[in-house]
Amino acid sequence: MTPVLLYTGDPLASYGFGAGHPFGRDRQAAFMGQARRQGLDALALPGTPQRATDDNLLLFHTRRYVDFVRARCAEGTGFLDEGDTPAERGLEEAAEWVVGTTVAAVDALMAGDAIRAMVPIGGLHHAGRDHASGFCIYNDCGVAIERLRCHHGLERVAYVDIDAHHGDGVFYAFESDPAVIFADIHEDGRFLFPGTGHAEETGTGDAVGTKLNIALPPGADDAAFLEAWERVEAILDAHRPEFIILQCGADSVAGDPLTHLAYSSAAHAHAARRLSELANRHAQGRVLALGGGGYDRANIGAAWTAVLQALLETPQA
Ligand SMILES: [Zn+2]
Repeated sequence: MTPVLLYTGDPLASYGFGAGHPFGRDRQAAFMGQARRQGLDALALPGTPQRATDDNLLLFHTRRYVDFVRARCAEGTGFLDEGDTPAERGLEEAAEWVVGTTVAAVDALMAGDAIRAMVPIGGLHHAGRDHASGFCIYNDCGVAIERLRCHHGLERVAYVDIDAHHGDGVFYAFESDPAVIFADIHEDGRFLFPGTGHAEETGTGDAVGTKLNIALPPGADDAAFLEAWERVEAILDAHRPEFIILQCGADSVAGDPLTHLAYSSAAHAHAARRLSELANRHAQGRVLALGGGGYDRANIGAAWTAVLQALLETPQA
């Protein structure tokens, strides 16, 4: 077994919305129930959740936006965006736990405490530097990339996103940054939020060629995913990242109530296994998996345990 840190706990589970919102507070439990049935949770090293400091948040987000989130959540009414992300009381604290925990996982891998890590209630890829979007308040993926670049001094970080939705909050924040190798396979934006992630979006300025967007049609299955996946490996091999982040949203599995892709959890297992092998070649093994979306509870269990199992079972170099 390869050493894998698994970060779960009540402060993370509490990131979610009430009143029948698809991003409920039962998502971590949906994963953990399945992980326990398979005995996987006992094979992972328990990671300790951590609340973000303001310095953590400000690595990616603006001061003005952090203040806005706190003020709106203290009021506890309305939305943080156009109508997807409710401003509920206490939610800013839960969002800070998600970010802090992803930072803790980054730091632990950089310190050599484990080879790989997973934060199931992470991967909030839609939030921008100054705005909430698509159930995402703070973008822990973006904070992780900035932490790796600014604090740990890495020169090349890879972000791979297999959530059904395009990772727009990460993409546009780093569109012109050649240090971030970005690869995203998602449902075509003509049919699904947020509507971005076209094949022509390959980065701007110095960063042209460091970004890969692959849009698949509704109904795309494992065969379509595996064909697209070859191009993800090619761009990562070409740029030799020193750290790999996988956003493994479970909403690309068939049957999700919000999307129209039709993978099985074998796609998620494949991505985690192949990225672990890529990381062995280029990144001293370092892979951080962040859960992301997923609104069918059985699919959450299946896809994220498939990822955890692959992280645990793929040999380290
Ligand atoms: Zn999604």
